[in-house]
Amino acid sequence: MEIVLFEKIAVILFGLVFGSFFNVLIYRLPREMNIAKPRSFCPVCKHPIPWHHNIPVISYIALRGRCHFCGAKIPIRYPIVEILTGILFYLNFIKFGLNGTFFINTVFSSVFFILFFTDLEERILPDELTIGGSIFAIGISFLRNDIYWVEALIGGLIGFLIFIGAYYLFLKTKKKEGLGWGDIKYIILIGAFFGPLKMLLIIILSSILGVLLWLIIVFVFKKEKDYELPFGSYLSIVSLVFVFYGEKITAAYNSLFR
Ligand SMILES: [Zn+2]
Repeated sequence: MEIVLFEKIAVILFGLVFGSFFNVLIYRLPREMNIAKPRSFCPVCKHPIPWHHNIPVISYIALRGRCHFCGAKIPIRYPIVEILTGILFYLNFIKFGLNGTFFINTVFSSVFFILFFTDLEERILPDELTIGGSIFAIGISFLRNDIYWVEALIGGLIGFLIFIGAYYLFLKTKKKEGLGWGDIKYIILIGAFFGPLKMLLIIILSSILGVLLWLIIVFVFKKEKDYELPFGSYLSIVSLVFVFYGEKITAAYNSLFR
């Protein structure tokens, strides 16, 4: 009993520390910066951040959300990402236990999580995560027992074909890019990790979520009609739900046709 409690706390602390690193990735990957060098610095005054100003969540509170050297506001995204990463690691631990499945699902849910923020803030889905993640998803599929490697390959291929088709359809009919190349690489990753059926459900549910949120933003918050949130963020939200509830959603979907 005590051991389980200790493990839970350890996993959450581990998540907070990784969340701090994810903040670095969210800032640096879209800017094509080296992720290791230089050390963390204030983006406003460029002053290096000493380690004791870089403790997840605690430093943000202690510094009252401002850089110690120039007083610039630290975006609230920093502590939010740290806390959410702690929760994400914890949920993976509760669902999978401490084993290989935990490792795989924590890695990929972290990738979906980081891509949510890079697409939301910078409208960029970095290749390191989409292409790198796709290669890793196909490679690791040989070791997984919840998906067959052929499914991973077919999932990635079908995802690519659907999105490349949609890309050119948009380009022809609307004369603009409805989907970006980042989205096309992202769906390969999703298909390779989840397999074809779950990937199709993720595309459908992301589209529905996109339309619903667009209606709310335009009609409740009165933004302009051409306002759009990046599609990659919707894919991330639904993919994260599928890490934990994918089996249940797929079973519910299958029961529709029984
Ligand atoms: Zn500063």
